[in-house]
Amino acid sequence: MTRSEIIPQLKKYFKIKELVCPHTFKRHADKSWMFLDTEALHTLLVLRCDILQVPLICNDYSAELTQRGLRCNLCELIKDKTDRDELSLTAHSNGKGWDLTSPEMTAEEMRKKIEEKQDLLPYPVRIELKVNWLHIDCYDMGNSQKITYFNP
Ligand SMILES: [Zn+2]
Ligand SMILES: [Zn+2]
Repeated sequence: MTRSEIIPQLKKYFKIKELVCPHTFKRHADKSWMFLDTEALHTLLVLRCDILQVPLICNDYSAELTQRGLRCNLCELIKDKTDRDELSLTAHSNGKGWDLTSPEMTAEEMRKKIEEKQDLLPYPVRIELKVNWLHIDCYDMGNSQKITYFNP
């Protein structure tokens, strides 16, 4: 699928506000789609429609969760890391990663389902283990595996 096919499909399930941080949305509104990586968008669509097939929630403003999609340099998480002199190369900063929850599935159930249906993934992904949300990103390790697991 091309980018111009993927985005209209994704709009059925996600508002752009849900996929980028509040700073980005405030400044760029609907143009914010341009910051999101095509492979990561395609992966999100396949997760929603083909692999998990349940409602997925990225940013949830009512729960003050606003850094689960794209994060900019103003985002607190990144600022904190800079303050501590830690290097931040998170996929969230490059529009390549998502943190997702579902009202219908636990994170563990989602990870299991993705493992089972990994052939449907359009690109290699990395998945974080032992967290109670699904972190999935499209950083490619070049190790010829569909899924690379990592610990926080
Ligand atoms: Zn931000
Ligand atoms: Zn994450």
